[in-house]
Amino acid sequence: MSTFANDLELWFITGSQHLYGDETLRQVAAHSQEIAAYLDANPAIRAKVVFKPVLTGSDAILKLCLEANSSPKCIGLIAWMHTFSPAKMWIAGLRTLSKPLCHLHTQYNRDIPWATMDMDFMNLNQSAHGDREFGFMMSRLRMERKVVVGHWQAPQTIASLSAWTSAARGWHEMRNLKLVRFGDNMRQVSVTCGDKVEAQIRFGMEVNTHGIGDLAAVIAQIGDAETDALCAEYAESYTMMPSLLKGGDKHESLRTAARIELGLRAFLTEGGFHAYTDTFQDLHGLDQLPGIASQRLMADGYGFGAEGDWKQAAMTRVLKAMAHGDDKGTSFMEDYTYNLGPDGMYDLGAHMLEICPSIAAGRPSCEIHPLGIGGKADPVRLVFDGKEGDALNAALVDMGNRFRMVVNTVKAVKPLKDLPKLPVARVLWEPMPNLATGAAAWILAGGGHHTAFSYSVTTEMLEDFAGMSGVEMILIDADSKLRDVKNELRWNDAAYGLKGL
Ligand code: MN
Repeated sequence: MSTFANDLELWFITGSQHLYGDETLRQVAAHSQEIAAYLDANPAIRAKVVFKPVLTGSDAILKLCLEANSSPKCIGLIAWMHTFSPAKMWIAGLRTLSKPLCHLHTQYNRDIPWATMDMDFMNLNQSAHGDREFGFMMSRLRMERKVVVGHWQAPQTIASLSAWTSAARGWHEMRNLKLVRFGDNMRQVSVTCGDKVEAQIRFGMEVNTHGIGDLAAVIAQIGDAETDALCAEYAESYTMMPSLLKGGDKHESLRTAARIELGLRAFLTEGGFHAYTDTFQDLHGLDQLPGIASQRLMADGYGFGAEGDWKQAAMTRVLKAMAHGDDKGTSFMEDYTYNLGPDGMYDLGAHMLEICPSIAAGRPSCEIHPLGIGGKADPVRLVFDGKEGDALNAALVDMGNRFRMVVNTVKAVKPLKDLPKLPVARVLWEPMPNLATGAAAWILAGGGHHTAFSYSVTTEMLEDFAGMSGVEMILIDADSKLRDVKNELRWNDAAYGLKGL
């Protein structure tokens, strides 16, 4: 079941002016409608694209921007100046606008009609200078926005709009996210901590705590019939360890795990929460650390962070919102252990339990094993290898005077050998540009051990998201050099100091 809205909208707005007369404005409107309909019909743009009447004056522009701000469905504006739209008309509207803006610098006609072009045609199709006037005003206002250049039907144009739309979905999610923490951060841990008030000011998300006892009380209300039904669903969906099956000596543990999942789901639904954290240090009233429950809730789109890591719980939810509709796998993740030998330097990502089965290469195995910490009963979990493919890790850290998002692209590979004794889900990857540079850059940037990991979210989406949210982004990819990253970190400290962030 999806926990994401399916009625999100992008508003397609076109600027012009009265100077041209009604006939030209009718043509402008017809062209804009055609472009908006084309984008709306394109499955790569995962939001409804809504045509808005052509804007020719400052009152209408202001009204449109105020409507966009207050619309719960509108996640952003795509703006295009078919003709020339004197940009002082845009000041009042743009200064109030609180939704992301993508400046589509396109032209209705793809080619110059060499043999037939006259002055009328050129006056109608003048975005080459109309968009520069509009662009100047946004630069003058120091507005963050994306500029996409190209014909509106060109695959590269669609791809850029698609990435920006995904970013807008993620930003919309973060603006509206309610996150619940069961218990605090793991004692003494630094990187999972942070300023929750500042996070709400910057990102909109609400991060609040409930005692684990509140959850335990909901779990205690779960009935036998629904528990048994969920156990049957587990047995249909996964390869079961025989002792967990009905009649097996661990079946009661499976039923306990199922009750935890049903209770968690009910608690999150009731509170309107789409992300949560827990911690093995605070499980009063729970028999097991939630394992399969957190894995399956993530598969349904919920954000999760272990050991109280609310920032990565939010990031997991946000990345899932970006990928929704075409998600090849997105999970909470932790850098766990390395292979540093001559057969290749790799990072093995895993967690004690909580990796999302959306990244599984095959059918997960449902197993029960002891957990060395926490002092509770053995938890049930799904065990699998992650898929091969290009992916990335993204982490949000609190640098004291600002948040920073650290991103590293990786190449996930098949485990070099079987892991018959490892009782948790895992994925092996090579960080870009290589483990030595990638890990050094990550550590210098202050990136923590917890991340959100995704095969579908791209660096372009995260760059667009950084623009929308105003968060600093440090990208470590195939082109990164350590000296450049060090300089970027040094210079950003100055730049963000100057911005007063
Ligand atoms: Mn952890």
